[in-house]
Amino acid sequence: MNSIVVKNIFKSYNGTKALEDISFEVKKGEIFGLIGPDGAGKTTLFRILTTLLLKDRGSATVEGFDIEKDYKSIRRIIGYMPGRFSLYQDLSVEENLNFFATVFDTTVKANYELIKDIYVQLEPFKKRRAGKLSGGMKQKLALCCALIHQPEVLFLDEPTTGVDPVSRKEFWEMLKKLKEKGITILVSTPYMDEAAQCDRIALIQTGRIMDISTLDGIISKFPKKLYAVKADNMYKLNSDIKECGMCDTVYIFGEYLHITPESDEISGLEDYLRKKGHTGIEISQIKATVEDCFMELMSRHGSMNDE
Ligand code: ADP
Repeated sequence: MNSIVVKNIFKSYNGTKALEDISFEVKKGEIFGLIGPDGAGKTTLFRILTTLLLKDRGSATVEGFDIEKDYKSIRRIIGYMPGRFSLYQDLSVEENLNFFATVFDTTVKANYELIKDIYVQLEPFKKRRAGKLSGGMKQKLALCCALIHQPEVLFLDEPTTGVDPVSRKEFWEMLKKLKEKGITILVSTPYMDEAAQCDRIALIQTGRIMDISTLDGIISKFPKKLYAVKADNMYKLNSDIKECGMCDTVYIFGEYLHITPESDEISGLEDYLRKKGHTGIEISQIKATVEDCFMELMSRHGSMNDE
């Protein structure tokens, strides 16, 4: 059985579409990533699946329970870590954990085994107020609180946003250990590089899922040749390449421009750039990253609120 089944979910806020025809399934014990920028609809979807918000249309189940009819059963078997810091800032680490355990009618002691690996890192600060913890520590405490009743499914809404790279890495290692214990994890992130940490991902933009697959599956579908281009004057390079008529897409990617040619060949590009006075020209064919796939899918799908 799939842990999460989402079928054709639609949601609008006062006429503005936030989710349009969202469907996907998450297998038991899978880490499934919802990857998309701010405003993509990730939080709306999490709130619907965690039974905190009603959908307009469609249906969904979590461990076989219907998100509306069986909302009480779902609340007992899921852990939810909302995007913004959800803990009580004035309570200490220990007090927060005890509070969440009590809400679920259990104790920290009874569930210690599950949180032990994470909690040992927090223990030196157990008397510290949650509001005074570092970003990485807050995130670990929030994860402990979401796990304290031994949920079968974890919903983590942007757990690594605003957290330093080392803590982000540690966090994903923790999620992999939870997966080994059989917990299903639906996690959202705006960081494309985190796609590599998930078993499968859905790329989401303006309320629509553009593609669902493994990371390799998504990358292998990139339909064009892709080139990284650099020159001494990047600003001029950007405008000259946009005007050259040889490229389908042109976008800035770190210190390079990534371009996809209109036809398969761009043999005339270097000559064209020299004639335009460019120096330090570098053109190399590269393999697409998930970010390139996202850009390509976006250019194909457009924005739903534009329609
Ligand atoms: P994400 O979590 O990916 O940033 P959200 O689900 O928060 O996306 O937002 C999706 C869209 O719905 C955005 O356009 C946002 O402005 C809009 N939205 C979210 N919450 C509300 C709300 N309570 N009222 C009106 N619009 C909202």
